[in-house]
Amino acid sequence: MKPVIHLAFVDDWEVRGNGSGDPRALQFEPMRKLVKIFNGHGIRGSFNAEVMQQLVHRNQQERFPELKAIADEWEQVVTESFRRGHDIQLHLHPQWTNAIYQGHGNWKLGGDWSILNYPPQQIRAMLVTGKQYLETLLRKLDPGYACVSFRAGSWCAAPSDSLMPILSELGFVFDMSIVAGIRNDTPQVKLDYTQCEEPFVPYYPDMRDARRVSRSFEPIVCVPTNSFSGARFALLRRDFGKACSALQRRVRRLRNGNGVAPPISSRGHSGDEWTNKGESGAIGLLKRVVKRYVLGQVHIADVSRLNYAMMHQMMAHIRRQAARSGLPNVPVILENHTKDIFDFSDIERFVADVALYQDVKTVTLTEIAHGLRNGTFKARAA
Ligand SMILES: [Zn+2]
Repeated sequence: MKPVIHLAFVDDWEVRGNGSGDPRALQFEPMRKLVKIFNGHGIRGSFNAEVMQQLVHRNQQERFPELKAIADEWEQVVTESFRRGHDIQLHLHPQWTNAIYQGHGNWKLGGDWSILNYPPQQIRAMLVTGKQYLETLLRKLDPGYACVSFRAGSWCAAPSDSLMPILSELGFVFDMSIVAGIRNDTPQVKLDYTQCEEPFVPYYPDMRDARRVSRSFEPIVCVPTNSFSGARFALLRRDFGKACSALQRRVRRLRNGNGVAPPISSRGHSGDEWTNKGESGAIGLLKRVVKRYVLGQVHIADVSRLNYAMMHQMMAHIRRQAARSGLPNVPVILENHTKDIFDFSDIERFVADVALYQDVKTVTLTEIAHGLRNGTFKARAA
């Protein structure tokens, strides 16, 4: 029997990790576009709204009216997307703790990037505040709305003595922060998911280390965010295409500005936040090239980072894993970042294909939570 793949288009909806970038360019406009694409193909997407940024804007809006305008539009876009059928769930970037506004849209973020490095009472406070904020906002539109799933900022969810117990105690049905195969050792983010025990199907996590599968039933489930490896040639083509369009954009900017450097881009900038230790400089670049195009690397199933060919390789991998699972119904979680979409055409083509697949049903995160509760989706124990 061929399994039914229940595919969730999920987006981590936020500005850059260092707080840079205009929410209008990185979040509001691309969310409206994405919602239009989804609705055009009868698909309901899910957005993991990063709420720390929004709460900081609200906290400082009396002093800085421009922050109020942004926070108001944030709520407007979120509620409008929800009204049009899309799910909103919780995402947290704790680096917004004690953020300082420097004017002109610039922020200085001083908090640790990993929620795991905060004391348990602070983890709980962030989760309670974020969940309550979304529920208060969205229950005005749907009294039955509940915040049921979580994705940690920068994927930092394991190991931890407190995160999974607190999530389950607060009523979260599942976490989707585990991505099998990824590893980061950067100034901000240290995580190692290279030895995850379950890369694909839902499972009961070891409550102190969600990379491991528990021997028993647990009060919360982990649904991994999908990942796949290989796709070296498609990756090379994608990177080449991206480099060419970046060059074109640069030339266009220089022409328009008569050679004068453009103001700080509305798209923000990333520094070394995602450069792994030992991978900077010329030797680091060489190491990265070998890893990407020769050895092959693990890709998060993040459609904003994939081209059309890679999306199809990802889909073929999902079908193979689903067949191997032996389950009749398998939920699969994809990733996306509106902040990283420059061109919607590959995503639109892929969404149109998915809408026609006989073996794929698209679901929201709330529907995955229902399926886990009513037994449509089985979680495994060790
Ligand atoms: Zn994020």
